Amino acid sequence: MSAKHAAAHERAPDYVRAIAPYVGGKPIEEVARELNLDVASIIKLASNENPRGPSPKALAAIATAVSGLTRYPDGNAFALKTALAEHLRVGPERIVLGNGSNDVLELATQAFLRPGDDAVYSRYAFVVYPLATQARGARGVEVADKDHAHDLDAMRAAITPRTKIVFIANPNNPTGTWLTGAAVESFIASVPRDVIVVLDEAYNEFLEPSEQSAAIDWLPRYSNLIVSRTFSKAYGLAALRIGYGVMDPAVADLMNRVRQPFNVNSLAQAAAVAALGDTDYVAESRRLNREGLRQLEAGLDALAVRYVRSHGNFILIDVGDAAGVNLELLRQGIIVRPVANYGLPSFLRVTVGLPSENTRFLAALGQAISHRQGGNARAHR
Ligand SMILES: *Cc1c(COP(=O)(O)O)cnc(C)c1O
Repeated sequence: MSAKHAAAHERAPDYVRAIAPYVGGKPIEEVARELNLDVASIIKLASNENPRGPSPKALAAIATAVSGLTRYPDGNAFALKTALAEHLRVGPERIVLGNGSNDVLELATQAFLRPGDDAVYSRYAFVVYPLATQARGARGVEVADKDHAHDLDAMRAAITPRTKIVFIANPNNPTGTWLTGAAVESFIASVPRDVIVVLDEAYNEFLEPSEQSAAIDWLPRYSNLIVSRTFSKAYGLAALRIGYGVMDPAVADLMNRVRQPFNVNSLAQAAAVAALGDTDYVAESRRLNREGLRQLEAGLDALAVRYVRSHGNFILIDVGDAAGVNLELLRQGIIVRPVANYGLPSFLRVTVGLPSENTRFLAALGQAISHRQGGNARAHR
């Protein structure tokens, strides 16, 4: 009788069964186990985390909040929304908090997409856009890039009456490419007002102040705009999982209906309030990142390794045999991110580390490359 029935997992929708699992940066402990290395000797430059550790003010806020762990968090996050509203100069009714900004991206797809709808995004854009789109049974429309960057004219041309959401990452991960505010705003102005534009600004804080996004000031003009940001990158709180979206109050209301009531935990809320107040920490993170990017660029130039010019806290480099080079780096205790799953099989994405970490990475890369050239030379004889 059981032969007549499909296994339960086979009855999941086709679009769920077709999702390619997310491949993240390898955890330090996993690399230590697999390669028999000392945890302390490993450096991780794989997930665009802040190499400085969190702000001491955030750590102090967490220590205080620990005594309240028996209670559910404030599902409406009054203190954090008040602080964010002041920081961003918007009404709190425009803010939706997420369990990471990843959650905000998911909430947008939950609120707006169903089977039969399209979501438009760029080739080489953040991998969560296709994942979140597929999970709703909607169709992802991937638009060809222009030199690894979003081609906004082509993206505009890909919008049809089926399109419900367009995703833009600025700066983009994994390419590090960046579009000017003027280019982004004229794109948004050209999009029909019944199509949601998700503008993902996870790396905005790493831009120089003069280049930072003014998109939140555009919100009164575009009721279809969702701007998302995160505490995971420049604020150094990736493990706590907290990000936010800012948008039209009616859109925020919908997103809040589909979100889990307690999606942001109390430690994250407390830490985020403190982190927002520590503007020196963010400024120093930006400075360290700018210098680290220059250090990596100079080192890559010296090795004659090509890379994509980056505006984030990471750099996409073309090493040729990325899988082979990655393995050699892992053996030397350095974790970076292969991006073959993005359709970039010859590239590695390397997060900007502390100066000493960048130095170690460049030395290891130099070795890995000269080994391979030596190996190739032998193979050709
Ligand atoms: C890291 C990242 C995010 C989300 O990170 P969260 O930790 O979920 O806030 C969103 N978009 C891009 C482009 C990213 O690189």
